[in-house]
Amino acid sequence: MKIPFVDLKAQYLSIKQDIDKAIATVIDETCFINGHFVKEFERDFASLYGAKHVIGCANGTDALYILMKMMGVGQGHEVITVANSWISSSETISQTGARPVFVDVHPDYYSLDETQLEKKINKNTKGVIAVHLQGQACEIGVIKAICDKHGLFLIEDCAQSHFTEYKGKRAGLIGTAGSFSFYPGKNLGAYGDAGGIMTNDDALAERCRMFANHGALKKPDHRIEGINSRLDTIQAAILSAKLPNILRWTEQRIRNAALYDRYLADIPQLVTPKVRPETKHSYHLYVVRAQQRDELMSFLKDAGVETAIHYPVALPNLPAYKYLGHTPADFPVATRLQQEILSLPMYPELTEEGIAYVAGKIRAFYKR
Ligand SMILES: *Cc1c(COP(=O)(O)O)cnc(C)c1O
Repeated sequence: MKIPFVDLKAQYLSIKQDIDKAIATVIDETCFINGHFVKEFERDFASLYGAKHVIGCANGTDALYILMKMMGVGQGHEVITVANSWISSSETISQTGARPVFVDVHPDYYSLDETQLEKKINKNTKGVIAVHLQGQACEIGVIKAICDKHGLFLIEDCAQSHFTEYKGKRAGLIGTAGSFSFYPGKNLGAYGDAGGIMTNDDALAERCRMFANHGALKKPDHRIEGINSRLDTIQAAILSAKLPNILRWTEQRIRNAALYDRYLADIPQLVTPKVRPETKHSYHLYVVRAQQRDELMSFLKDAGVETAIHYPVALPNLPAYKYLGHTPADFPVATRLQQEILSLPMYPELTEEGIAYVAGKIRAFYKR
């Protein structure tokens, strides 16, 4: 048996007609930049979320960068984020001239440890980028209360958490704004790069739309200097074709996680993911903590099971952040996790048979 880490082909085949038609229509209309396809996706994604505004942009990294710029972040400022994430969560802070300040992760939920947030705040702090990593909501209610108390903005990085919920509210709508990635492997993925910003703040939405479009809402009315970060039209049409399936796909991910939980329950060398109470985990990733992780990973590879590590080096431990002068001991939890975490295959089309196979191989590894 071969179990890939994600299976984009299986998903394409399940909706092939809709996707092919969407792409053909864009080409037939020779509508290659912006146009009604982009507007329709922004409107429908916002409406499915219950959000006032969605602003499409080129990718999830740009979504964060645009937000940093429009929140007024720059030289001399600090923005706080989490020690384990994809580098977009911190590099977009530095790109404005500001300094990223890392908080260690929670030992049970692997997201920003809210109990350590307040001590990182000083007079230069402008805001927080909280990441709902893996599809697991971070303790965003507590984080928001701390931000409100100190007058800080709060951006939710939802690149891995489409339709994740926290206490009945969708992640992305709790802070000032949410940033989304539609990178192909994300829970809602395009067939190339794509991203978006979500907010209920009218003024912020308008500023983001302007900045992403060369500082102009309309050609050639450039009120400010901006960037060119458009949601590509073919990608928007593909995302619209996929959108009617996203809630079902999310439920299938949740079902698959429950199956993993059950099949892996009797393996003491493995810690299965713990879901934060009163939240809905959307399982972009199913991350276990494993003894002898690297050996297990290569054993699984030989057995046809593809796994991954998100992420092998915690952000403050990367060469890119050497200039901040941290040592691994500054982030003990994130540093320990980088040696133990393993992401198992996870996608809506993964079958129970496949999950049983993966679990069987893990059991075989620890029984050697
Ligand atoms: C994927 C990802 C991003 C960036 O998205 P791109 O579309 O690849 O630019 C940002 N943050 C996190 C947590 C991600 O996983």
